[in-house]
Amino acid sequence: MLGPVILAASRSDRMRRLISAAPVTKQVVDRFIPGETLDDVVPIIEERTAQGLELTMDVVGEDITTPDQARAARDAYLALVDRLAELELGARVELSVKLSMFGQALPSPATTLNEGPRGPAPAFQGGHELALANVRPVVEAAAAIGTTVTLDAEDHTTLDSMFAIHEGLRKDFPQTGCVIQAYLFRTEADARRLAASGSRVRLVKGAYKEPAEVAYQQKHEIDKAYVRILRTLMEGEGYPMVGSHDPRLISIAQELARRAGRKPDEYEFQMLYGIRSDEHLRLAAEGHRMRVYTAFGTDWYGYFMRRLAEKPANLRFFLRSMVSK
Ligand code: FAD
Repeated sequence: MLGPVILAASRSDRMRRLISAAPVTKQVVDRFIPGETLDDVVPIIEERTAQGLELTMDVVGEDITTPDQARAARDAYLALVDRLAELELGARVELSVKLSMFGQALPSPATTLNEGPRGPAPAFQGGHELALANVRPVVEAAAAIGTTVTLDAEDHTTLDSMFAIHEGLRKDFPQTGCVIQAYLFRTEADARRLAASGSRVRLVKGAYKEPAEVAYQQKHEIDKAYVRILRTLMEGEGYPMVGSHDPRLISIAQELARRAGRKPDEYEFQMLYGIRSDEHLRLAAEGHRMRVYTAFGTDWYGYFMRRLAEKPANLRFFLRSMVSK
């Protein structure tokens, strides 16, 4: 029952200030977020790719409050692409972005202009256009160095906007990926649409606090939905990215891929940095494509809290480290 409480705290500014300032937090955070700067993470990129792993890099940050912060997020990703260009790793290192960090939740002039008593209702509220304007240069820059971008899935209220941005970007950059979450009722239909259109789709269980009106609440229901959706992706025309650390789901994924006649380079596994690291290497050594989602940066609070919520033992470790200080 702790998970939902931690997820609620992950949206609280007061908790953000408290936990971000706690003197011991950093050593605990480092397990999941290996650095704050590009200089911190470039050695990790070099080491992991030398081990046969692939990466997807996430500059941490979400729920920003000003357009300047959204532009700063874009610039942070562009700086990352510049460094990746020097490493010449192409598609072995791709990018993951959260549209909330690019301004998706902000009020934007572009949408406000369409509003009014008789004007057409805007298709999307807030900063949909702003997020699109900020993410497009990142997708373009990534394509120029031979890699791609995946749009992370955030809470369910953001997803129609995310899928519309994804579809728009794919007209010029068909490799642009997106994430779907097995816990949401809508996802089976989303998976059918995306599988048919041949896109790159990462399937995850889902990490946000979602109400029972839109999402399964029980682990066994989420796991069953995950398998159904994965089957759709494996039998479809897209490129499935299996985002999970769950050993049962990983063996089911291998079986579904085999039955669908997929070769090892026609799908991939993805796991988070710091979680089941031995398994990353084991799967890569077996000839699977394994991509490690590696988050870095200073605004780590939301990302870190979701990792705590996923496993109560993480919270116990975190609290113990605070008490023992
Ligand atoms: P679980 O049943 O939660 O875990 C299986 C086992 O993995 C656990 O028993 C444990 O041994 C280990 N484990 C899992 N989580 C942790 C942890 N935090 N600490 C320590 N051990 C752990 N969610 C979104 O909502 N949107 C996204 O865009 C998104 N992107 C993701 C990208 C990748 C590559 C991955 C792997 C996950 C992503 N997630 C995202 C998170 C996801 O939704 C789950 O919350 C998370 O992966 C835990 O679910 P699981 O499938 O690993 O299964």
